[in-house]
Amino acid sequence: MNEWKFVDLRSDTVTLPTAEMRSAMTNASVGDDVMGEDPSINELQDFVAALCRRDDALFVPSGTMANQIAVRVYGGPGTEILVVDQSHVFFYEGGSAAGLSGVQLCPVRSSDGIFDIRHFDAGIRSADPHFPRTAAFWIENTHNRGGGKIVPFDLMRSLKELGVAKCIPVHMDGARLCNASVATGIPLHQWAGLCDSFSICFSKGLGAPVGSILVGDGGFIEKCRIARKALGGGMRQAGILAAGALFSIKNHFNRLAEDHRRAQILARALQDLPGITIEKKPETNIVMIDVLEGAQFSAQILVQKLREKKVALYDIGPQRLRAVTHLGVTDDQIEYTIHMFEQILSS
Ligand SMILES: *Cc1c(COP(=O)(O)O)cnc(C)c1O
Repeated sequence: MNEWKFVDLRSDTVTLPTAEMRSAMTNASVGDDVMGEDPSINELQDFVAALCRRDDALFVPSGTMANQIAVRVYGGPGTEILVVDQSHVFFYEGGSAAGLSGVQLCPVRSSDGIFDIRHFDAGIRSADPHFPRTAAFWIENTHNRGGGKIVPFDLMRSLKELGVAKCIPVHMDGARLCNASVATGIPLHQWAGLCDSFSICFSKGLGAPVGSILVGDGGFIEKCRIARKALGGGMRQAGILAAGALFSIKNHFNRLAEDHRRAQILARALQDLPGITIEKKPETNIVMIDVLEGAQFSAQILVQKLREKKVALYDIGPQRLRAVTHLGVTDDQIEYTIHMFEQILSS
């Protein structure tokens, strides 16, 4: 237990590139990607498009930029995108849909990212000069603020059917789609078939240092390439980054099951400790820890006490902590974390 300074359960974004990944990055062949000449980026885009059985893909610097590109391509001034409540694009992106692209986002009621398609249906605007035009449906799978909850396959199918019937494209923020795929055993290409376009993030659980990818049909991706440049995301010899991303999806995809297993172990051990409970059983790599009414510590104090014991996680509300498992978290660290919770809560 000496080689780590603390157990870092704050986020799956804290992962560091492994030696093998660094070596793949060092050896990547590169070119000017704005000119379409970076072989490593082209290889990554082709690989992901083929894996998802879709036309084309576009490497972008971040998940936020993937979202903002999709918002810009589907929308524009005078349009509205119906987004699941509490989604990243609505909650965590600095208001950029409005700020950068003049798009109004309208949250659709959902519980941890699970929606009722009737709410999407009811949100569609009719043709009337008073109304914005409904430009897209937007969902998030897995749902970040919903504790990594998976949007059920059949629910996604119903939304896609509604989209087809009403001529409204469906976009999926799939920053953690690989987690959903591993947890359900449903391959990426099947999820990919239930939306018009989607993104995947390499720098979350997959463990690459940088990058996300947008996937969709050729016409859509072509527009995304233009929007990416306009938003400042056109990079040059970024094949060094794409090589890390390609390594991550080839080598760290299946191991996400280990993160899910560790999340389960943590949740099971914590659920009966005094003062806390686990209201939502983790479905992927995120564990929401609820502090009971009348407990001896608030979530904030518990976080401080854990930090003194070298366990880092976030309080995401007055009575809720979040722990995220990832590539850098071992079985020993989970065991240690459980002991520290026990010590603090039984003192
Ligand atoms: C993290 C995340 C993003 C944004 O990714 P960044 O790379 O941090 O910009 C977008 N959507 C979801 C669901 C996320 O969890």
